[in-house]
Amino acid sequence: MLHYKIHPKNLGAHLIHVTIDIPAGERHIIAKLPKWIPGSYKIRDYSRHIQAFSATADNQPLVWRKTDSDTWLIEANEQAVQLSYDVYAYDLSVRGAYLDDTRFFFNHCCVCLDITHLSEQKRLINIATVDNWRIFTALPIDEQNDGTYFAENYHQQIDCPMESAQNYLHSEFMAGDVRHEVVFTGALSDDYDMDGMTQQLKNICEAEIKLFGGSPLDSYLFMTYLEANQYGGLEHKNSVAQMASPDMMMKKGEKLNKKMIDFMGLCSHEYFHLWNIKRLQPKDFQPYDLYREQNTEMLWMFEGFTSYYDELFLLRSGVVDSTTFLKRQAQNLSRVLNVPGRKLQPLAASSFDAWTKLYQADANSPNNMVSYYSKGAVFALYLDLFIRKHSQGQSSLDDVMRYLWQNFGEKGIGIDEDDVFAACGRLLPNDKHELLATVFVEGLHGTSDMPFAQLLPDFAVSVQSQAKRTQDQIHTSDSGMRLTITENTAKIAFLDANSHAAEAGISVDDELIAINQNNHRNDFNQCLDFGKAGEKLNLLLSRRGRVFEKTIALAKPLQNEVIFTQTGKNDLGDDWLATWI
Ligand SMILES: [Zn+2]
Repeated sequence: MLHYKIHPKNLGAHLIHVTIDIPAGERHIIAKLPKWIPGSYKIRDYSRHIQAFSATADNQPLVWRKTDSDTWLIEANEQAVQLSYDVYAYDLSVRGAYLDDTRFFFNHCCVCLDITHLSEQKRLINIATVDNWRIFTALPIDEQNDGTYFAENYHQQIDCPMESAQNYLHSEFMAGDVRHEVVFTGALSDDYDMDGMTQQLKNICEAEIKLFGGSPLDSYLFMTYLEANQYGGLEHKNSVAQMASPDMMMKKGEKLNKKMIDFMGLCSHEYFHLWNIKRLQPKDFQPYDLYREQNTEMLWMFEGFTSYYDELFLLRSGVVDSTTFLKRQAQNLSRVLNVPGRKLQPLAASSFDAWTKLYQADANSPNNMVSYYSKGAVFALYLDLFIRKHSQGQSSLDDVMRYLWQNFGEKGIGIDEDDVFAACGRLLPNDKHELLATVFVEGLHGTSDMPFAQLLPDFAVSVQSQAKRTQDQIHTSDSGMRLTITENTAKIAFLDANSHAAEAGISVDDELIAINQNNHRNDFNQCLDFGKAGEKLNLLLSRRGRVFEKTIALAKPLQNEVIFTQTGKNDLGDDWLATWI
């Protein structure tokens, strides 16, 4: 059997050592390392971290050569072969590999070469860690042999990251007959309310399992590494690797704040993925090709719907109330409306170009793109309300998800846009199908804003729009610029391409020295956001050492800040905003 052995080699140099024992039989062996990891749509060229590669048979060196950056060709001459190499592991992210004297974490696709003629074969994986630190992974373990795991094939192997650290917090709970483990590593504290967080997670998991009518799992593992200013997660079939900031942890005796809710939202999001992307998948991802970009227009469904549901399940599981839920929905819609790029890039295109736009965002991104996470969640919200309204409260987006799960996801069949459209259409009377088609065409391939004001009043929720606010003060002017102000400088972090400032030749990254001869940086935002529409300002700027002046005219602020308010109660609203526990 194919046998991988992985152990820490040098903590300070961040080196992991790997050996792979390959059974005899092949004249040539091809070993490859993926260019990207499923769930994170960017070419990462993991092979650049491989060093000191060798291939032997009976301790005698074999001839080998590389045929491209990710591929090793070994002259095996039908002998049993051992590959040996080191991996530089100093990437803190959930999609990398990391080793130091406090933590050992890796995704197998960063560390373990795929032996291509055996990709589909069962394999044995030995993981040694530092000083017998406890290992956490969703890989099936060999109960007889500590540190020995199995995987059915290469894809299962790379879908089970491993976390191990000197110190950890651990808890367990049952939800829907499934054993769930929760592990925190990194910046730990006795103040964390592990019982409170475990209970909240249990409620979230139970509610999501209820939506899909059961769980496809035997067990699930939440792994979270804590470090200041970190946030994110990468979904897997039976586990998740997350990062969060310590201030996002629930603390004993403290009320839930926005950051703590955000962390529960992250867990809710990644858990929803165990159905929506890890099992119910776009046709385009079946099978995954890890050696090239794999484009799909469908991420509005797999990330957008998941982003809508992660919030809905905070409400359904009782983490937030309906007021907070509506506030967070309105904030997400406002976030989309404040991005000028939504007028250029349709949602389906945002998904298709994830590799080069969302995953390679720069200062111009708000001008030329919209996120399939936030706008996808807005589309999901609209579609949910649309189905609820036009089915007279008989159906909802839940029925769409359940139908797609039972007819596609559970059977391993991929989906496309037509399948989602059909799943929605079957819930609505025939005379609404044309309207539904307009929602799909405009929502996914057009760039106009979804008309929420036509739908929400049916749910006893009012929609108001106003200009942006800073600390509850409504802006009275718009300069088209957003500044990053530090102790020593004020820099233009974003510039609206359609603003007067851009036309005047001001650029992103310019340093703003003074406005109307006043160089007090603390006054700058007041001048730009709380001036009079039409008012002219004289700006003193610097670009790479050249100082220059520009005059700009302030514009009227756009009414892009949306507020949803519950105005009363009715059946449609009650059902949409119901708590499930
Ligand atoms: Zn996601």
